[in-house]
Amino acid sequence: MAGRPADDVLADLEALTADDGDFAGGKVFGLVFHAGHDVEEVARKAHDRFVWHNALNPDVFPSLRQMTSDVVSSMAWLLSGRGEVDPAPVGFLTSGGTESILMAVKTARVRGGLAPGRGNVVLPASAHAAFSKGCDYFGLEERRVPVGDDWRADVDATADACDDDTVLVVGSAPQYPQGVIDPIPELAAIALDRDVNCHVDACMGGLVLPFMEGLDAEWDFRVPGVTTISADIHKYGYVPKGISVILHRDRASRSRQTFSTDNWLGGSYGSSGILGTKPGGPIAAGWAVFQYLGVSGYERLVAQAVRARQRMEAGVRAVPGLTVLGQPDATLLAISGDGSGTVDPFAVDAGLIERGWRLDRQGPPDSLHATLTPIQEATVDAFVADLRDVAASVAGAGAAADRSTNYAKTE
Ligand SMILES: *Cc1c(COP(=O)(O)O)cnc(C)c1O
Repeated sequence: MAGRPADDVLADLEALTADDGDFAGGKVFGLVFHAGHDVEEVARKAHDRFVWHNALNPDVFPSLRQMTSDVVSSMAWLLSGRGEVDPAPVGFLTSGGTESILMAVKTARVRGGLAPGRGNVVLPASAHAAFSKGCDYFGLEERRVPVGDDWRADVDATADACDDDTVLVVGSAPQYPQGVIDPIPELAAIALDRDVNCHVDACMGGLVLPFMEGLDAEWDFRVPGVTTISADIHKYGYVPKGISVILHRDRASRSRQTFSTDNWLGGSYGSSGILGTKPGGPIAAGWAVFQYLGVSGYERLVAQAVRARQRMEAGVRAVPGLTVLGQPDATLLAISGDGSGTVDPFAVDAGLIERGWRLDRQGPPDSLHATLTPIQEATVDAFVADLRDVAASVAGAGAAADRSTNYAKTE
């Protein structure tokens, strides 16, 4: 097949987006984190300027070394109560939350030093699927512990699930499914007592909780026993996909994450994570957006996103037949039936999709997950109005045939 004029190709590319979710219009509650046009412009320009750079070897690109160091230090400062922990945590940028979590699992396994075939990770049922992936990849047993009635990790059950082969205890701040923060000090104390790692998954909360006013939860490096924390910069950092951070309490822990070899014909090869070649664009965009927004910018955006969650939560609770699971702590919530059995959330989902709204179907229990971003402060009222209509139209009509959930798909 012959090549085609660039304009034609780009026009076709544009046409392919016709059925894509309208995230810039605030109708997609997840997947894309949008903070408005000005932030997007800064991110896009920085990303474009570095779109061909490769962070595989920063000797060739000192710019990337500098920006990486700046972004990691900013996150270390933020996740230690704005510099309260001395010495400061250290870490690496990764391609996303999944890679950060995989590296936390790998680090814990190396520290545990057990023979192959041994080692387990104790984690609440609510912890992200990436931990299951990590256990699968690194040959560890996954021990899921049921959560409490408030959807938070059950501390006593977690302690009971640990044994001499436990290498890692996990908590989330907040967990994804219901958006509540696990009791991190208690979970970390279990790990400390056993002299093993405790990972806090702050993929969602890392750039939200530090900016929330009046938050009553301890979850960062100020908590004794917390050894690693993951935080996604490509979520509430408002940076294009491909950037997250894994932080370690100290250098000894960080050294358990890295891999190096010279056992091939290409010389010394050292790498911090799963990737070899690593895109420069997300690093530059992360650096630029941090500089552009600063602490005050993030405080403003977090306040907006939290207000959006509060409005949506109040709206949903007032819709007959529906409720919100638990008491969400930050910017996530789950919509489910209210127990009366009159309204099926998956039937509601079908009606919402017809009106252009996209949520994430999850379970158990069957529920619709919403991730609230700042621009949705302006769209939640319209959403709630549509939700009320749709719920009324499906009330008493039984359950939808399609019970599938769809957080992530292979095709
Ligand atoms: C998004 C998320 C992850 C996984 O991150 P990816 O960037 O999708 O790989 C892990 N944990 C939590 C709590 C998340 O919200």
